[in-house]
Amino acid sequence: MMATNPYELPSVPQVWQPADLEQAWEAKQALGDDGRFAAGGTLLRTQWESGLVPMPRHLISLEGIASMRGVYALYTAGASELHIGALTTLSDGAQHALIERQAPALTEACKRIAAPSVRRQGTLGGNVLSQVGDSIPALLVNDATLVWYQGSGWTEQLLNDWLEQKKKDPAPERKILSHLMLNTTEWGLDGEKGLQKFVKVGRREAFTASVVTVALAMSDVPRKNGSLKYIRLAVGGGASPVIRLTEAEQLLLDKPLSGKLLGQIHSSIQAQWPAAHDAFASSDYRKLAAANVLVAELWKLLKSSSS
Ligand SMILES: Cc1cc2nc3c(=O)[nH]c(=O)nc-3n(C[C@H](O)[C@H](O)[C@H](O)COP(=O)(O)OP(=O)(O)OC[C@H]3O[C@@H](n4cnc5c(N)ncnc54)[C@H](O)[C@@H]3O)c2cc1C
Repeated sequence: MMATNPYELPSVPQVWQPADLEQAWEAKQALGDDGRFAAGGTLLRTQWESGLVPMPRHLISLEGIASMRGVYALYTAGASELHIGALTTLSDGAQHALIERQAPALTEACKRIAAPSVRRQGTLGGNVLSQVGDSIPALLVNDATLVWYQGSGWTEQLLNDWLEQKKKDPAPERKILSHLMLNTTEWGLDGEKGLQKFVKVGRREAFTASVVTVALAMSDVPRKNGSLKYIRLAVGGGASPVIRLTEAEQLLLDKPLSGKLLGQIHSSIQAQWPAAHDAFASSDYRKLAAANVLVAELWKLLKSSSS
């Protein structure tokens, strides 16, 4: 492994370029908290340039690790998964045919993050590990699992569980996120059934920070009694926690869609999501916007199924 800056200038981090996961892991063990993993570096650079976090003394660049790239589908008896390398750039995510077919909410999320120059460098792994990335709601509605590398091997962790863990311990990860695994089984092999939506509400139409970001995945044709057999709802926005709206999901499952039910969903979304209050939007505004956007999508479904 070569360091690209052997002189260790005080104002420039020393960059390490491991060739594989094992080398990256060893570098992290040797450098401890002085070494930060870097993928596209777009978030890290912004954080240290704005003084939010100190510039690390060492950067462990993951860019050269081939096993962290690539997108492929895995089909086993009765199940399907979509594997996405953590180094997949946001612009590749926005254009990948397999992602578009199997997880269209994620395609839309990638298209709506930052401007093209950032999307060409920024990665999906880095977006998730920011803990507030716009891709997270789209990944949550696809039951995403994080696959970590930590020296002795790989471990799997549901994205939802990791987000819960981060609420208690938001410190940067010491493990390496190798790839993301989406469960596309219930959603339908090759997206043959169901529909997904991703909506980002910002203060401007394009290239803007999110006020509210929502995603949903559901069966597109309600059963004969008008109920949904599959539903996932997720929300985030600004520095708010990104969560699955499990209470609204429970309300929706196996009950015929109706105006009255949608009213309950609207209240439930606002009650469950602890939206952040900041200079861009109040907590109440965020909650209302999220409830309005999600209920509007469900309303469209109700209308189309009754026409
Ligand atoms: C102008 C601008 C606009 C932006 N707009 C948006 C936006 O609209 N929406 C949005 O969600 N984000 C936005 N971002 C934030 C950022 O660009 C994205 O979140 C991007 O996806 C981060 O990916 P990265 O590869 O650059 O991460 P990096 O900066 O390389 O890393 C981010 C964090 O993750 C860690 N890390 C990265 N990859 C791994 C890994 N595989 N294993 C372990 N640790 C890892 C790093 O140590 C660091 O803590 C914007 C940034 C800029 C500069």
